[in-house]
Amino acid sequence: MRRAVVRERGGVEATTLSVSCPVRTQCVSLSVCAACPRSVHLPDAPGGDDAAVECHHKPPLGRAEAERATRDMELGEATVRVTVGAISPRTVTMLRDDATAADAQAVTREVWPCAVPVVTGDGALVGMVSRAHLDGADAHAVVRDVMQRDVEPLGEEQPIIVAVVRLAGGESTLPVIAPDGHVVGVLTSRDVMRWMATSLGYET
Ligand code: SF4
Repeated sequence: MRRAVVRERGGVEATTLSVSCPVRTQCVSLSVCAACPRSVHLPDAPGGDDAAVECHHKPPLGRAEAERATRDMELGEATVRVTVGAISPRTVTMLRDDATAADAQAVTREVWPCAVPVVTGDGALVGMVSRAHLDGADAHAVVRDVMQRDVEPLGEEQPIIVAVVRLAGGESTLPVIAPDGHVVGVLTSRDVMRWMATSLGYET
């Protein structure tokens, strides 16, 4: 558990307690753990240096284990143990940032999903471009000038629940990156729904 103390004017101290959550892959406040179904014990004296939250989170499963294991797990458990990398399609089409809008229009017509990651010559993710960005764009315009820049990728090691929350929040196509930062896929609501249906025993 982390404890941050901010001393304010007049010597008043404000203390914030947070926990490094392996599921959300970020620091969350103690109140988030208190409301989480996976927390089994919260410290009696949360201000102590060695205080810790007892959490029932189990380590994530990789692609190889995921298919077999999800059939034997509750769907809720599977969403925190199966990784994004285990369900994202294995083929991804991307655009170089110096491609033209005409190139991008052709790609977004040919592939699903109709939004694709934009990368530099080194393979670094710099944005996403979709049909909406290309509407009305000059055919000779450069992709980097029309794309969406503020893109937050998913890590392939993150649990599916992270993708579910972001897709539920209105994002439609999430780029997926490997630990070295290279784009390895994109994930859409359709991929997650297909995985859920298969996990529940339906053919898709
Ligand atoms: S109990 Fe575990 S999974 Fe739940 S918010 Fe806290 S650290 Fe994360």
